Amino acid sequence: MIHIKTPQEIEEFKVAGSLSKAVLRRAGRMVRPGVTTREIDQVVESFIRLHGAVPGFKGLYGFPASICASINEEIVHGIPSNRVLEDGDILSIDTGATAGGWVGDNAWTFFVGTPSQEVKALCEVTLDCLKAGIAQAVPGNHIGDIGFAVQSLAERHGYGVIREYVGHGVGHVMHEDPNVPNFGKKGRGVKLQVGMVIAIEPMIAMGTYKNHTLANGWTVVTNDRKPAAHYENTVAITKDGPVILTEDAEGAWCSFQGGE
Ligand code: MG
Repeated sequence: MIHIKTPQEIEEFKVAGSLSKAVLRRAGRMVRPGVTTREIDQVVESFIRLHGAVPGFKGLYGFPASICASINEEIVHGIPSNRVLEDGDILSIDTGATAGGWVGDNAWTFFVGTPSQEVKALCEVTLDCLKAGIAQAVPGNHIGDIGFAVQSLAERHGYGVIREYVGHGVGHVMHEDPNVPNFGKKGRGVKLQVGMVIAIEPMIAMGTYKNHTLANGWTVVTNDRKPAAHYENTVAITKDGPVILTEDAEGAWCSFQGGE
């Protein structure tokens, strides 16, 4: 069932959204060689709680942490650990906060030191995929228009579009209807209407889109072990077009470069 939000509810939602972006930005400033993903997770959890909010991910389906931290070939759902980030890695952080009864959800892939040009290009194109998807989030379009925009841009660059993990409606809980795949056909799927709030989150692999889950039951990796990138915002569909709710005073985007 799709829950339609009133304009008033969308305004309230911005509290959780802006905090979620501030959290992601705070996490990104820690991303540099020598840091562990567990250290980032601990700072994020404190940051969220200091703001009187609750980590959106901790305990969700039993997930043990406040961020998903996915390094290089890890696509999503990486568990923070004592693994030390190295120069040339990329780190995807997916995090969000529940505040005022609403859940913010956003993700960003950060550069650790200096990744290769090839890896940087993957990240830049994946962010462009997110922007292309958001541009389709207008009343009267369909879910398939978002997926088509993401998929066609990614595949034009020869990249793989992850199929099993998709965007979703967001509201009082992290995952609501409808699913928002990163692939699709124009004009297909649920019709978008004013008051829908969805997380759009392309997960794009440099090589194959095929993947599997590690023995820890969470971390999803590409089968060819080539890197993957992941960018996400929570977006409201309004009569004036898409409004990004995961936006703070500095905007809706982070720096690619960790540590900034
Ligand atoms: Mg999400």
